[in-house]
Amino acid sequence: MKVLVINCGSSSVKYQVVESDSGERLAAGVVERIGEEGRTHSAAVKEIVEATKEHGVEAVGHRVVHGGPKFHDATLVDDEVKAAIEACVPLAPLHNPANLAGLEAARAALPDVPHVAVFDTAFHARMPRRAATYAIDRELAEKHQLRRYGFHGTSHAFVARLAAEHLGGDLRDFRIITLHLGNGASACAVEYGSSVETSMGLTPLEGLVMGTRSGDVDPGLVLKLARELGVDETDRVLNRESGLKGLSGLSNDLRDLQAKAAEGHDGARLAINVFAHQARKYIGAYATVMGGVDAIVLTAGIGENSADMRRRILQRLEFLGVRLDEEKNFDAKVSDDDPVRDIGAANARVRTLVIATNEELEIARQTAAQVQGAKTIAVKKPIPIAVSARHVHLTRESLDVLFGEGYELTPYKPLSQPGQFAAEEKVNLIGPRARIDGVRILGPLRPGNQIEISRTDEFKLGVDAPVRHSGKVKNSAPITLEGPKGTLHLEEGLICAWRHIHMTPEDAAAYGVKDKEYVEVAIKGGPRDLIFGDVLVRVKDSYALEMHIDTDEANAAELGRISEGDIVYTDVYVEETQAEAVIQSKSPAE
Ligand code: AMP
Repeated sequence: MKVLVINCGSSSVKYQVVESDSGERLAAGVVERIGEEGRTHSAAVKEIVEATKEHGVEAVGHRVVHGGPKFHDATLVDDEVKAAIEACVPLAPLHNPANLAGLEAARAALPDVPHVAVFDTAFHARMPRRAATYAIDRELAEKHQLRRYGFHGTSHAFVARLAAEHLGGDLRDFRIITLHLGNGASACAVEYGSSVETSMGLTPLEGLVMGTRSGDVDPGLVLKLARELGVDETDRVLNRESGLKGLSGLSNDLRDLQAKAAEGHDGARLAINVFAHQARKYIGAYATVMGGVDAIVLTAGIGENSADMRRRILQRLEFLGVRLDEEKNFDAKVSDDDPVRDIGAANARVRTLVIATNEELEIARQTAAQVQGAKTIAVKKPIPIAVSARHVHLTRESLDVLFGEGYELTPYKPLSQPGQFAAEEKVNLIGPRARIDGVRILGPLRPGNQIEISRTDEFKLGVDAPVRHSGKVKNSAPITLEGPKGTLHLEEGLICAWRHIHMTPEDAAAYGVKDKEYVEVAIKGGPRDLIFGDVLVRVKDSYALEMHIDTDEANAAELGRISEGDIVYTDVYVEETQAEAVIQSKSPAE
């Protein structure tokens, strides 16, 4: 799809026409000096529409800096969405008005194509509450919408996806720390596909040291400055006169500082050291937040170009599994056509990647995904739902320990997926806080142990189990199993299963979906209709059409058996329900 990407700032409008599938850039330019001599956003956008007419633009993607708490994804713009973006103006008074002016002008100039708002904040909008919350009075926070929003989301999402491709898997398989180090700078912890922490907060002032922004300071420092200099001057000092520029007293451009540092300039040296130190600190913090890290990505002006800064940031991280190859680091050059360089030593456990970010391409892709994904899937063939109660898959070795050498499982009843069965045998799960007895084993035996529980079970046991696809148990939660003949402690294997649909290639063709695609599924016909997002499609010849959800999900949609007074899980593994599920649409994020 040919997408016109518009990035409307207060004094300039940048644009590109991008073919979203191939990534080809068909046109690019900038209209400057908006606000001078009567040059308006509207006139600039008209100029751009005229200049790009020959490319046959099919959709327009607008960069919008702040989406507030409401926007979790890029969103097709209508009048209601426009009003919601307007409501975010107090959160980004410098940026959102310009973005809106561009949006309005472009909708007027191109009324017949869809317009999509792509928010810098959206990638972080599902951050866990513990990461997004400032420890201040909750009522005050609510009233003024004071929370951590995060920015640079399109860049973090783009480079994280390229990193996963480079690592040979899906974004949802990896824990990645992305460092966007440009004139603005931020770090992000991308845990199995989601931003779970990021260094910018309510505004783009928090976090890393930047060209002219201070990044983290003691809030007491802000108060002291505000008392002495006034609020506006404090704003100017922290946003425009701090960071590399403030520390060095010279410039916000790292190239200038590196040249001066080489001549012995103390301020330049200090600026470089503080910048690197702060970035290192965040790497350590984010590796801890995610319980480990598979790759570290450096991007944007400094990350892509400064081998010296990369080395300073990544030195002495061997304890994390990071080891730099000095030569590869020195030689690394990335571009839009050749965007990924691995600068880690061959034997390093954690990959270190330099990646050329391309926010325009990401905006074009998200725009195309919204426009295409918005088409509701025509087929309404209902999907049977199976509710998985907590259950255990075991290896031969584990069964030996728990039930005795050479023990064989006794089939209790067959399951819908061919060859699978629920066994007579059960084990007990022992967590740090409590135990859950009588958890059914499913057969046949497998090459890896996997214990699937619900969030409610997780709270009861006192463990933190990640939501994972079946088979992806690396670095999942530990658990102790107790059988009649022995006890087995597993360092990993405990997960909450990712909701998914099994289907044959014929079903997939009928629904118009592909293997590994994510869809929305509407549950209808029950007393509590519900739409599940992020449902993974799994396609194989041997599968039977069926959606698998866990007991918490079933209870939320009022499916399955619920006994009076308490939520009690069926000890039958699978229960067919009468409710209908239909694929409603493809997940826009994919
Ligand atoms: P960005 O905001 O991503 O365009 O990054 C701009 C910043 O990247 C500049 O202000 C410089 O500090 C930095 N930068 C760009 N090229 C180099 C380079 N070759 N060496 C060091 N820093 C660079």
